[in-house]
Amino acid sequence: MLRARKAVLELREYHPPLAGRIGLRLDFNENTEGCSPRVLERIRQITPEELSRYPEREPVERLVAGRLALAAEQVLLTNGVDEAIHLMCEAYLDPADEVVIVTPTFGMYEVLAEATGARVVRVQCEGEFRFPLKETLRAISGKTRMIAIASPNNPTGTVAARDEILRICKAAPESAVLVDEAYYDFHGETVLPDVSEVPNLFVARTFSKAYGLAGLRAGILAGAAQQMKSVRRVSSPYNVNAIALLSLAAALDDSRHIAGYVEQVKHGRQELTSTLASLGIRYWPSHANFLLVYIGERHREFVDTMRQRGILVRDRSSDPGCDGCVRITIGTREQMDEALAALEAVATELGLVKRVSA
Ligand code: PMP
Repeated sequence: MLRARKAVLELREYHPPLAGRIGLRLDFNENTEGCSPRVLERIRQITPEELSRYPEREPVERLVAGRLALAAEQVLLTNGVDEAIHLMCEAYLDPADEVVIVTPTFGMYEVLAEATGARVVRVQCEGEFRFPLKETLRAISGKTRMIAIASPNNPTGTVAARDEILRICKAAPESAVLVDEAYYDFHGETVLPDVSEVPNLFVARTFSKAYGLAGLRAGILAGAAQQMKSVRRVSSPYNVNAIALLSLAAALDDSRHIAGYVEQVKHGRQELTSTLASLGIRYWPSHANFLLVYIGERHREFVDTMRQRGILVRDRSSDPGCDGCVRITIGTREQMDEALAALEAVATELGLVKRVSA
């Protein structure tokens, strides 16, 4: 009988709960406003000829690299950050190699690393979900070939500082260090320019979050030109589809649209934290477009009751160290007004309010 590889058979399924997402979708850290109208305009103008040809990635890669002040050889466009992670695993991992991840974090590092037969070494965040520099350094062994760090991290919203990342790169010269900056736009700090100096550093970015194009599937992987040659070898030449490639210039050109959205999210983040503080509900300060909130034992009821009021939020209770936690994506001003009203009502209904400030 045909059998998949052992590593694949043993793999935990990653199945995001996408079904029945009816309501205000504050559950997947997406852009809740929509992409730039310029992107939609470009998509409407697509010709049959543009779709009948195989998509040419390189010209768009050069454009994106230019915007990031990098050389084209340092940049690969990918089918979202998910594919960037996949390609890194394909390029660098042999069975029995080790991959260090910092938990809790985005689930795909573990899934795609384990699919190669590599062993995942998990380092738990420090108190308040701070980045565990010391423990990460300690977890590096002669078998470590990849270290994945999301900064800002999902679901915590916490960040790793540049000097911490550079220390890790130095301590593990035979490891690919992938810094996942999917939420960069909401934070504003980056190690992207360092890819020109640090030979084992890679940075991933996405058009799925601030740019509002999660459905299009477009991401960026940047690294040293020498290393990117290897990553390119394991990529399909047509990994990014024509519609995505034709839209990216318009997406990048409308920087005002992105800035306006990021501004709203930062405002909403502030509003959400003040509301939670006044209700006496614990949260962890976030540098991304979401907030991790401690609801406690009634986390499931909280998510269900919010859903009944038309607001979708995500239970993160089963993530390591996140027992009782729920993640709330931050949307536009109007959406946050609606979400905060629901949050106050549900928190009161479930008896979660500990203290209301004067
Ligand atoms: N990295 C992180 C840290 C994420 O939270 C997510 C999405 N939840 C992704 C990557 C996936 O990004 P993309 O849509 O570009 O594959």
